[in-house]
Amino acid sequence: MSKSAQPNVSRALFDQVMVPNYSPGTMIPVRGEGSHVWDQNGKEYIDFAGGIAVSALGHTHPALVSALTRQAQQLWHVSNVLTNEPALRLAKALVECTFADKVFFANSGGEANEAAFKLARRYAWEHYGSQKNEIISFYNSFHGRTLFTVSVGGQKKYTEGFAPVPEGIRHATYNDIDSLKALISERTCAVVIEPVLGEGGVVSADHAFLTAARKLCDQHNALLVFDEVQTGLGRTGSLYAYMNSGIVPDILTTAKALGGGFPIGAMLTSDACAASLSVGTHGSTYGGNPLGCAVAEALLQEVNRPELLAGVTHKGARIKEGLHALNDQFGLFKEIRGEGLLVGGELNAAWQDQAKAIMTAACEQGLMILIAGPNVLRIAPSLIIPDADIDLGLQRLALAIEALS
Ligand code: PLP
Repeated sequence: MSKSAQPNVSRALFDQVMVPNYSPGTMIPVRGEGSHVWDQNGKEYIDFAGGIAVSALGHTHPALVSALTRQAQQLWHVSNVLTNEPALRLAKALVECTFADKVFFANSGGEANEAAFKLARRYAWEHYGSQKNEIISFYNSFHGRTLFTVSVGGQKKYTEGFAPVPEGIRHATYNDIDSLKALISERTCAVVIEPVLGEGGVVSADHAFLTAARKLCDQHNALLVFDEVQTGLGRTGSLYAYMNSGIVPDILTTAKALGGGFPIGAMLTSDACAASLSVGTHGSTYGGNPLGCAVAEALLQEVNRPELLAGVTHKGARIKEGLHALNDQFGLFKEIRGEGLLVGGELNAAWQDQAKAIMTAACEQGLMILIAGPNVLRIAPSLIIPDADIDLGLQRLALAIEALS
């Protein structure tokens, strides 16, 4: 064990010095390499969690380490009073590989969404008047934890006790076009959709639903916003999930995997929409800082390759096959679903509310895995996880379930 891995701080310290809004597991990870992580005691884990769909290239990928260390020796921060080379290069690369003409940089998914929602309101205000301010999103969606994004999100528990919340937000039922039709009107400035509900249980949007939503937005002069914070950067097998569907949004938000673990987010949009965020209307001290942009530039270069993206589809299928085999053995799942390497397994009645217990048992067996609500196991590993690590992780999951059965 290296000196830096000596356990001189413990999980107990968390409860003494940290605000209790999280309840982290008992082990403290100290080192990662590829799809492997080691804790303070030197115990090794397979990482099926990817830091919640963030570590797209696994841990300490040489291209990212090199981009970060190179930039760290050159320039860390200048603020948006000046621009910087990595931000310009990254924005150009994002524009070149997506529908977008313009980019706004933020530090997280929540901030990218905050920018998207503000832009949607501002655009409508400028073009149609202040009465056009309603944002429609969907029950069970998740868009971040700022007061605006948590209010747009469709999970009531996250706004409890935080009233008064922003007004002008309506919620429709995901994949139910009639429910969107019932709410959309000339007052609607934006419809916000996650192409796959991530936190909401790994549920994919139907193609017909996305097509109809695009049409309704056009009919009502509302902007279509895709929140691709979780689905972006190859997670579903294409660079962005909208590319699979062929439905092009007006605004797209991306974060999580964009920095592969270094905090960065971005909002992408068209020239026509971008014009509404004129000088002074929005901003961020750190958004587009050289360190984050240098890492994201390297990550985008690595991820946006046909071989890597094809690998995502193949690896996702391998994981699903493994989960089906587990299901045959243990009778665990009602449904196994998801796109690419965003895989969900919804537990059946016999395992009701046991997702967290399975996650904890998996950790004991040396597997980091995610949940999405009390009944869904979620897997969102590195996009380049070796097949051997997938198989080993699935074996450990089987041991965890055996221990619980
Ligand atoms: N949007 C989606 C779809 C997400 O999954 C998340 C995080 O889970 C967010 C937004 C918020 O991102 P962040 O935690 O970086 O603010």
